[in-house]
Amino acid sequence: MGEESDKVIPVRVAVRLRPLNTKELREGCQECIEITNDSPQVVVTGTDKAFTYDYAYPADSSQGYVYETAVKNVVKNLFKGYNVTVLAYGQTGTGKTHTMGTTYTRDDDVEPGIIPRAVKDIFDGVAEQNECEYMVKVSFIELYKENLFDLLNNRSRDECSVDIREDPKCGIKIVGLTEIPVTSLEETMRCLEHGAMNRATGATAMNAHSSRSHAIFSLHIQQRNSKKDESIVCSKFHLVDLAGSERAKKTGATGVRFKEGVNINKGLLALGNVIAALCEEGGRGHIPYRDSKLTRLLQDSLGGNSHTVMVACVSPADSNLEETLSTLRYADRARKIKNKPIINRDPQAAELARLRQQLLQLQVQLLASGTSDGKGQAAPSNTEVSALLSRNKAMEEEIEQLARALQSAIDENTNMAEKALMAEMSRDRMKVKLEELLAQTGNTYEALNKTLDVTVNPQYEDQLNLVKELQTKIVELQSEQHRGEKAMMDLEISRHSTTTNTQDALPTDTIKMEDGNTEDVNTSNEESPEKETKQFGTEFTLRQAKLNEELQGLNKALAMKEELMSKMSVNDAQFVVMKSKYEKEKRDMEAHIDHLSKEKDELMQQLKVVSTGAAGNKLSEQRRKRVQELESEISGLKQKQKEQQKLLRMKEQSEAKVNKLNSEIQVAKLKQADRQKQYKIVKWKAFTPNSRMYSERKMEEAVALTKDL
Ligand code: ADP
Ligand code: MG
Repeated sequence: MGEESDKVIPVRVAVRLRPLNTKELREGCQECIEITNDSPQVVVTGTDKAFTYDYAYPADSSQGYVYETAVKNVVKNLFKGYNVTVLAYGQTGTGKTHTMGTTYTRDDDVEPGIIPRAVKDIFDGVAEQNECEYMVKVSFIELYKENLFDLLNNRSRDECSVDIREDPKCGIKIVGLTEIPVTSLEETMRCLEHGAMNRATGATAMNAHSSRSHAIFSLHIQQRNSKKDESIVCSKFHLVDLAGSERAKKTGATGVRFKEGVNINKGLLALGNVIAALCEEGGRGHIPYRDSKLTRLLQDSLGGNSHTVMVACVSPADSNLEETLSTLRYADRARKIKNKPIINRDPQAAELARLRQQLLQLQVQLLASGTSDGKGQAAPSNTEVSALLSRNKAMEEEIEQLARALQSAIDENTNMAEKALMAEMSRDRMKVKLEELLAQTGNTYEALNKTLDVTVNPQYEDQLNLVKELQTKIVELQSEQHRGEKAMMDLEISRHSTTTNTQDALPTDTIKMEDGNTEDVNTSNEESPEKETKQFGTEFTLRQAKLNEELQGLNKALAMKEELMSKMSVNDAQFVVMKSKYEKEKRDMEAHIDHLSKEKDELMQQLKVVSTGAAGNKLSEQRRKRVQELESEISGLKQKQKEQQKLLRMKEQSEAKVNKLNSEIQVAKLKQADRQKQYKIVKWKAFTPNSRMYSERKMEEAVALTKDL
């Protein structure tokens, strides 16, 4: 038969003759159709007309025989993934429903038709298969007056109306059609019964109704090969019980009835046209599938992707000869239809299966490489990847921090260099000034010493001493400046050697850390694990930056305090001179007052003595006058003394202030020195004379890590 391969396969046609019914017998009809056993030929008695089909069944052929010979083998194609259609065609009352078994009831004595037999075979086949998993769904539709009804939907008839949609991928689709999953013959038959009941209520009513409507019972079979390749194959099995093929004029119908007849014929007419078109030119011309819903629904079954069997039912009575001939011709033409059935593989499911397979392979590979003890190319696991990612992120953050620290260090460096330059300049100016001052004070001292004789003018002795002190102070300052310059020079030399040969310049002795850790700086890089060194590097570079900032703040505060101090010191210097001068004056004054008081007392004594004698009157007058002079002088001097004391108090207050500032500066300087020490330690410890180099190394590491990822 050739159904094994995806070849062009014609529609197989069987003609089935039924016995004369009681009405025909009563009417005395004669049999005019002859079918001889074991020959697929139909002969019209009394004419030379003979038709040959794939199968021809005489009136006494059993339901089982028809199924076994014409349908059973075709049904097997469903398991290969092909679509299968069995359709019954013929005049009303010729046995279409009987042959298809559409009105199956469990307690029927009548032999079951094609549907129950085919369904039984399908589930038997499913049970036999152990390679695949099956999913079977049923649907049942009726086409009446070009309207589609879902017979398995339990709602009212108006609500059961469904529509055909054409999907470019899946072909014809019925929107919202009820599809009931079934797992057994019984379940499926219950659906069939249920649907048949929905066609019309009552046996006679249903018969009248069914003669004017098409019924399509369908099974959708999906098989998944779970053992082999997870491939999915779908097939559709349509069992079509067509409406009566008799022409409208024969039924004598008019009005509504006539319209129904036309409608019946619309589907059947279109079906006839489709069959005719498929027969002409091998079906390569235009096929009018779209002319009716029936032909659209049967598009795959006729000239398409399906193994199709048509059972043409005929009455043997001569009264029906015209209709019978029409059916026979129709069936003959249908034989010429060439179908091209193909296995319906689900493309999406196939792709999915392929990907699943691939995934499985990769998982196996991964597993194999994971247990290979690091030999060969081990694929990184999820945790490894996430660990690498987080490490990469941490490193990026570190780089950012380092870059910031580097920038602040560079800023600070520029700042410092500027300051150093300015300091050097002011130092040079100071040097010149000091030399000038020294020369000046020397000259002054010489000049004063020559012009003033201390023994003659003892009040100038202190002034001279002051100038001398000033001179020695200037010399002290000069030597201090020299020391500063030398220290600077030393620093410059050591710095130079540090940058040219870092390793040699580094202290080889251990540095006592703040937290008490003693570590050998020189060996830490080689001996401690690389990771630790890196962490230390970052930590110290950052600490260095922080200390730098602190140092800057301290420097600023110190500069402010020192400025204030210098202002105070100017006053101070003036006061020192003033104080010594006033102290001396005070002593002089005191002595003077003493002297004057004595003189006054003496005079008073003399006056007392003299007052008794008149001779001393003139002298007494002179003495009294002198006493008065002395008294006013003493009071003047005392006033002066008071003022001086006031000034001294002021001076003392200012001195206290200066002392306070001085101690503050001392504290600040100590702090600064401490920070500088720490800064230096950190600098050594960080082991990064060039933080840029360190940053670059970090960057390279990060780049390498990103590449790995
Ligand atoms: P259709 O569906 O074509 O209108 P039915 O299947 O309803 O015709 O058949 C009409 C009557 O003829 C039914 O009572 C049925 O039992 C009977 N009949 C049809 N074909 C056969 C047959 N091959 N053997 C015996 N009775 C038959
Ligand atoms: Mg019928």
